[in-house]
Parts: sequence; structure tokens; C-alpha cells
Amino acid sequence: MSSLRTAARVEALGFSEIVKIRNHIMSLQRRGVSVLPFHGGEPFLHTPDAIKQACIQALADNKTRYAPSSGIEPLLELIIEKVRTRNRIPAEPGQAIVVSGGLHGLFVAFMTTVNPGDDVMVLSPYWTPIQDLIVLAGGRRVLVNSFQARGQRLRTMLEQSLTPATRVIYYNSPTNPTGQVYTRAEVESLAQFACTHDLVVIADEAYEDIVFDGEHVSLASLPGMMERTLTVYTLSKSFSMTGWRLGYVIATEPWMTGLRKLTLNSINGVSTPTQWAAVEAFRMGPAYFEELRQAYRQRRDLLVAGLRAAGLACEMPAGTFYAFPRINPALGQDSWQAFHCLLEQFGISSVPGVVFGPDGEGHLRFCFSTSLETIEAAVERLARLQRAD
Ligand code: PLP
Repeated sequence: MSSLRTAARVEALGFSEIVKIRNHIMSLQRRGVSVLPFHGGEPFLHTPDAIKQACIQALADNKTRYAPSSGIEPLLELIIEKVRTRNRIPAEPGQAIVVSGGLHGLFVAFMTTVNPGDDVMVLSPYWTPIQDLIVLAGGRRVLVNSFQARGQRLRTMLEQSLTPATRVIYYNSPTNPTGQVYTRAEVESLAQFACTHDLVVIADEAYEDIVFDGEHVSLASLPGMMERTLTVYTLSKSFSMTGWRLGYVIATEPWMTGLRKLTLNSINGVSTPTQWAAVEAFRMGPAYFEELRQAYRQRRDLLVAGLRAAGLACEMPAGTFYAFPRINPALGQDSWQAFHCLLEQFGISSVPGVVFGPDGEGHLRFCFSTSLETIEAAVERLARLQRAD
């Protein structure tokens, strides 16, 4: 066999379907087709000026040399203070690490905790890269349907999905793609399950600041959970900083040593001026977050009302900037058909639910992080769907 081939670990990896969809939409737009874009996944707002200014200042001050690979001290201090006060996580100095965005944080978290042959429980539908991170770590994905596993059924369903090889749970609240926010009672029940069976949890809290209904409860704030939880955060969604690539992970030992080694050996630390810009992000007050939520709430209400008026059943998302309505026969028999129908006949792009795992089939994901005009135009086009029905 020729040696001009990639390593087996790479061959087993997929490449995000969402990227393929994005490329397809871009090629349609280049050909002059008008598409109202709802397939994306990033904030429509710009990074706040104060953060951009802090980066410019860092460059002017020649803060351009290697930073410590786990993060600069002033940023780490602010991170610890933030998680202690806002997330109620009892983190001590030394229990935070700066990483290159949420995905990198998840990468180092999975590689730190999952051994080949381990089963990883995933509440599903789930954010697509998770599947690949588990494959890369040599684990096996065990899905727990998150539409069914709500309220009192959560504990029962987790118990039913437990295998002798289960070691890690991936948990994401607020959830991409469903917009679900787990209640305090649910988070408590997950915590009790993890403690009872001595499991480790990777808690993905990327959307912690985009919650409309209910409260965001950090799993690591619950008794007994700090030592068994690796909590992954990112500045991408909270501060409209997707392109800056900065996140952080909170964990105790022995995890922190693993996270440090993997971060050193993969990126050797986040760009120094970016870290100084992030320091400024931690100075944003409550008014900033209130405005952010208000902007997304207005968009959520408009889109969900339009989807429902068009005959698509849609749970009101309690958090994130995604709505996850059910498809109906007027659109097609499965989520890919519905995606194509909506794109080709109505000029609206979305993401087929099955891209987020088998439990997402029968749904489409719409990202409402866009202008009100775009949402209004989509609602108008969707109204035709009901007339056609
Ligand atoms: N976790 C979830 C659930 C996400 O949806 C995303 C981004 O879309 C991330 C983590 C990672 O975000 P980033 O790598 O941009 O920080």
C-alpha cells in the first residue's frame, strides 16, 4: 500500500456538512440567486469597540511576543473572578486555561478525558463537530434523545443509556441546535447521575449569555461537580468575537495538566494581542448583556411567529440564536428534502436537522442572528408556504 495517504485517525473524520451548505449557498449567490441566509451560526453584531481598541493598544504597546501557553495572568485572574461570581463555579487560581475558541477548548477537553474504547454519552441532537472529536479521541458516541430526556425522564433515560464503557458525558446548555435550556432541576439530576456513576462531564456553555427564558445553571457549580467537570467557554457568541478565536476551560487536576499539555503542543497559546483584547471583554457590565439578549429576543419572536404562521410547529427557543421547527409534508418527507424545497422554491437557507445527528431528523435549524429586515422578508416568503399547503 502506498505511504502517500493520511493517518487512519484523519480518514475516520468527517468534514462539517454546514461548511458544505455554506459553500453551496455562496455559489448560488455568485450566480445572482437571492437567498435569505438562515444557515449560519454567528452573531450579527460587531465586536464592541472597547475590545477592538484594547487590541490596537496592545499592538501599539508591542505586546506581541509569546504569551504563557496557558494564558496571560491578568486574563486568567478575570476569568476566575467571572466564573466564581457569575457561574458560581468554585474555581481557584490555576483552574483556568485560555484556548483558541470553544472548538479548541472542546478538542483539548475530549483528548484529555476520553480513552480509546470509552463510551461518550451525548445529549442529542448535538453540535456537529462533537461527533468528530469523539472519533478523534477513539471513543464511541452513545446518543440520548434530548427531546424525550427532559424533566423527570432525564435521569431515567440517562440510566437506560449507560454502558459498562461509559466514562464521559457531553452536555451543552443552552443547546445548539434546539435552543433548549436545561432547568436547575434537570442540571441537578444530571449531576447526581454523574456522581453516582463516577462519570466526567464536558459542559459546553458557549451560549451562556443568550438565555431568554429561565436561568443558565453551570453544572460545575453544583456540589461534587467541580472535580468531574471540564467547562468550556468561548468569547465568540457573548462578545461577537467568532473570528478572534478565544475561549477558556475551567477544570481541576488531573484534567488541567492534560489541558495544558495539549494546548502547548497544539497552539502554544492564543495570540498575545487577542488575549489583551479579551481582558477588556471581561469588563463589560450587565447593561451590555441585557442589550444583547434584547436584540436576539426581538429576532427570535419575529422568526418563530412567522414559522408558526406558516404551519411549522416550533418550540420557543429558551436560549441561543437558533429555532428548530419541525418540517411538514408541504416541504418534504425528510430534513434534506425540506432544506432543498425551502432553498429552491422560497430562497431561504437553513440547515437540515439530521446534520445534528439522527435525533434532529424531521427538523430544520434556522439561525435568527441576522437583520430584522432579513427575518421580515423570510416571514413574508414563508406565508406563501401556508397558501400552497
Ligand atoms: N459549542 C457550541 C455548541 C457551538 O455552537 C459553538 C460554535 O458554533 C462552539 C462550541 C464553539 O465556538 P467557537 O469555536 O467559535 O468559540
